[in-house]
Amino acid sequence: MTNQDILLNLRPDRNYFVGIDSDGCAFDTMEIKQKECFCPNFIKFWGLQPVATAARQTWEFVNLYSKHRGTNRFLAVIETFKLLSERKEVKDRNFIIPDISALLEWTRNETRLGNPALAAYAAEVNDPEIDRVLAWSKKVNEDISQIVFGIPPFPFVKESLERLKDHADMMVVSQTPGEALKREWEEHDIDRYTKIIAGQEFGTKSEHLKFAAKGKYPDTHILMIGDAPGDLKAARCNGVLFYPINPGSEEISWERFFKFGINRFLTQKYFGDYQDKLIADFEKLLPEKPHWA
Ligand SMILES: [Mg+2]
Repeated sequence: MTNQDILLNLRPDRNYFVGIDSDGCAFDTMEIKQKECFCPNFIKFWGLQPVATAARQTWEFVNLYSKHRGTNRFLAVIETFKLLSERKEVKDRNFIIPDISALLEWTRNETRLGNPALAAYAAEVNDPEIDRVLAWSKKVNEDISQIVFGIPPFPFVKESLERLKDHADMMVVSQTPGEALKREWEEHDIDRYTKIIAGQEFGTKSEHLKFAAKGKYPDTHILMIGDAPGDLKAARCNGVLFYPINPGSEEISWERFFKFGINRFLTQKYFGDYQDKLIADFEKLLPEKPHWA
């Protein structure tokens, strides 16, 4: 059975469906993963030492502090190099940005942007640039498994899952590798609330919602919870509801969801003005353009 079949085969047991993003939404793991695991290896694998300061700042802007927050790691590499190539520090040093056209090509033709699909592609094309991307991605996973543990879910996450469990089928909707998701959700005993843990190997977040939930529940009974514009986009693409976990105010967002959001969602009083106001506030938090541009 393919991962898409697993999503398509999800049958509703409850009247509602809730998709939950993991990094930066359920868990406070964004900063540690990006700053300690992704970014140092990004600099190392692409030889960015001569422009390390700008590379680090650009990586963190893309992955943590911009509208790209939460994007797939391979798309993040592309976006970071795009912004980095325009930076004064890079031009002043005559630094040549690595050629990532092979990665670009792969991401244009594939939606399951994870190591399994990339490893299969690497075996097929035998391209050193693709090999480099795969080696980087594997090393990031290895570092995450060694560095990122013992981080509990945000306060009011478990309480919210417990409150929803008799009413909603729940699924993890993430662009993190499945093995890390499984480890993190199991470590804190919250995997038992979910029907499926869908990571990057299952396709995009929009596809997760489309195949697992769309058409199986009324649109107003499907809710995506996330901390990034990509999560909102996944909900909008499918015409379903979105609850924002605001970066920097995650605890307040979850407490508000537990105390008010859940009741509103389960009584059809969430969509409309209430949701619109939350999304409008959320959309102001993450800029499109970096401050140095
Ligand atoms: Mg996230």
